[in-house]
Amino acid sequence: FLSVATVLGESARRYPERVAVVDSGARTTYRDLWAQALSCAGALRESGVRPGDRVAVLLPNAVEFLYAYYGALAAGATVVPVHALLVADEVAYVLRHSGSVALISDGPLWPVAEEGARAAGVRAVRGVPTGGAPLPGPEPAAPDDTAAILYTSGTTGRPKGAMLTHLNIVMNASVIATDLLGTGVDDVILGCLPLFHSYGQTCAMNATLRAGATLVLMRRFSGAGALELLAAENVSVFMGVPTMYHALVEAAAQHGTGPNIALRAAVSGGAALPVALLERFEETFSTQVLEGYGLTETSPAATFNQPQTGRRPGTVGHPVWGVEVGVADAAVDDRVRLLPDGETGEIVVRGHNVFAGYLDDPEATAAAMVDGWFRTGDLGVRDADGFLSIVDRKKELVIRGGFNIYPREVEEVLVRHPAVSEVAVIGVPDEKRGEEICAVVVVRTDAGPVTADELIAWSRERLGRHKYPRIVRFTEALPLGPTGKVLKRALTAST
Ligand code: ATP
Repeated sequence: FLSVATVLGESARRYPERVAVVDSGARTTYRDLWAQALSCAGALRESGVRPGDRVAVLLPNAVEFLYAYYGALAAGATVVPVHALLVADEVAYVLRHSGSVALISDGPLWPVAEEGARAAGVRAVRGVPTGGAPLPGPEPAAPDDTAAILYTSGTTGRPKGAMLTHLNIVMNASVIATDLLGTGVDDVILGCLPLFHSYGQTCAMNATLRAGATLVLMRRFSGAGALELLAAENVSVFMGVPTMYHALVEAAAQHGTGPNIALRAAVSGGAALPVALLERFEETFSTQVLEGYGLTETSPAATFNQPQTGRRPGTVGHPVWGVEVGVADAAVDDRVRLLPDGETGEIVVRGHNVFAGYLDDPEATAAAMVDGWFRTGDLGVRDADGFLSIVDRKKELVIRGGFNIYPREVEEVLVRHPAVSEVAVIGVPDEKRGEEICAVVVVRTDAGPVTADELIAWSRERLGRHKYPRIVRFTEALPLGPTGKVLKRALTAST
């Protein structure tokens, strides 16, 4: 069977001389990348790592991440990529919870890694292990074996370890490379999404290597930096989250795009991409943006605007190949009652992309897996042509005086105000109505002053009486997670 390690191994066999990874200008061929991975696997074995053990990796978006990731997998271990923004205590939690036998780290992340590993009593390895005899080939794996344990970043609670199987990841990477992008060996994909996160790991890294294309790594994202790389490395596919799209169009407005940028496609996911931003990006870079939807638990791609099934900006498209998506009655918890098109409910998913469960958390797994479907916790609606739209997160719904308010709808109205750069709408406790609607606003630096009353009046003109925000607070910046998502939990706690 083709395991996640052989995603790289197969391409190394087919395209040994091609460039797999570019990291700070340095090029690594498929042959060399695979040799490094097998060497790491051999060293891990010699240090006592056995098939089925868990090996954690805390590295930046550097070529070493790939050595360690595919090395651990080739050794037959389950890889546990650790979030690069965690503090030492959180690293220790992940190491303990996952039962990792070693943590590979280096560079600026090393101090946190070392401290976290010490607290957890886990061996910390500085630098990708090498030396000794490389493994002759990868340890075979079964499709349902766990390949990676990814901890959800916890925008809504304590991190849970989502177990992704070899089948989950290989299928999802293949679907992205073939159906969505038709990636060829000449393609160059910008790897600016964090590789420890499901989106970057499957859609950028594994899909690119699956196709024998080139992944251009970016360690720290900035609009101007990305703009430079797009031109310097002849990038053909951009893949990012909406905040990256925002930064790129802003950088292009400031520096221009130059003649050397030739994107043939762009992929967005992770959070809602406002249609105005999609249009601005398409105009600036003369390319099509394909927006998709997914979660760590769905490996991640569940739906996409795919060339074959059509595109409708503002929606997240159709289910990816081999995956079924339904909209279920959100009020019924113990079973899945599917709703007809046009009705809003909880998005449920089943198919090859659904994870194997949360590690050591049978309760959370049972709550998420109902009647053979995975309950996403997101609310959505499907139109008559099968295009899915994300309405909001179930957990972020504000209930004001008994009415359900979807923060996204309010956010979309406010973001159209000329003085508003970014906004997040949350519910704050209110004695009379249970919750009150509060908008937390970042003002555009180039706009004149604006008052809370003006923004409330703007919203009142455009939204029903039960929906417009009664409270507006201003802030310098919204708290963002690693993939550019607003951390509403942090916002609620501080408001
Ligand atoms: P949590 O731990 O609470 O699930 P997370 O951000 O770590 O948070 P991820 O798996 O990274 O979890 O993100 C999945 C979530 O991102 C989805 O449940 C959905 O709410 C949101 N999302 C992904 N794509 C889109 C999209 N295109 N439009 C709107 N929301 C999206």
